[in-house]
Amino acid sequence: MNNIAVMYHYIRGQNGWSGIIPLSPQDFSHQIDTLSRTYDIISLDQMYKPRSRPWCILTFDDGTKDQYTNAFEILKRKGVPAYFTVMSGPLVLGIIPVMHLVHTVLSFVTDEEIWELIRSKHDTTGIEEASTIYSYELNRLRRYNKYMLNVKLTTQESIEILGSMFDSLFPNRSEFIDNFYLTEGEIKQMHSEGMTIGVHCHKHEPYCGDPQQFYDREIKPCRDYLMKVLGGEPEWYTPAFGGGVNHVLMKEQLTSILLAKGFKGAFTTTSKEVPKKPGFWIDRIDCSTLMRVNIR
Ligand SMILES: [Zn+2]
Repeated sequence: MNNIAVMYHYIRGQNGWSGIIPLSPQDFSHQIDTLSRTYDIISLDQMYKPRSRPWCILTFDDGTKDQYTNAFEILKRKGVPAYFTVMSGPLVLGIIPVMHLVHTVLSFVTDEEIWELIRSKHDTTGIEEASTIYSYELNRLRRYNKYMLNVKLTTQESIEILGSMFDSLFPNRSEFIDNFYLTEGEIKQMHSEGMTIGVHCHKHEPYCGDPQQFYDREIKPCRDYLMKVLGGEPEWYTPAFGGGVNHVLMKEQLTSILLAKGFKGAFTTTSKEVPKKPGFWIDRIDCSTLMRVNIR
């Protein structure tokens, strides 16, 4: 039996946030108990230690508050380690990435209203066909909105659509950021209580095709932030969107830069188990498919 790394995002109840697909704290807790029956749940520095059972690593993306409030609490209670990554843009610049503007606006503004605004400003030809990548969304207009905002429109165009709707929902951005993301104090506490903290991104952008430019824009600011907060160099990296459509190129071009900066490894969104001797890039299985695929 192979090792696995599991990918988590929101660990929370829906609580009116219809624009996100979270895993409830109860299901998270249950999943850990189930995993523990088959795997040793280990921290990243224990990956190369010989053991009789396969291992499992728990990984968290995006550094949202629920990971501190819910996941960290549950992990502490069970005495289980995990790996959390931070997005520095909101904390350093007060900028919220498009992905989280989308989650928030879709939660509190009707799809009809958003779709009307998009359609009035942009060409939506071929949307029915193109939006099938969001087939898990049962609402047709929600599929259209997600496709246009996340895929078709440029970052700037999406921000123009979402910005004013977001501001009327949450007029105080810094208060929203304090409530929605991990704070410096929470990152420090999680680190001091045995959790591994790594780099996710600065503004949550996919790989652009230029390794040095991408390092300078998306990795360095987050690495610098974590060095300031934790007093040491972060050793692990998880790219936003798993790198995006250029993820194969990213792995080829970025690895030498990451190694030179002292990174020990990085995590993908390719849904595969991890071989006995993992390489620099470690694949991850999403928690939502885990129950169906791996655990019986
Ligand atoms: Zn992310």
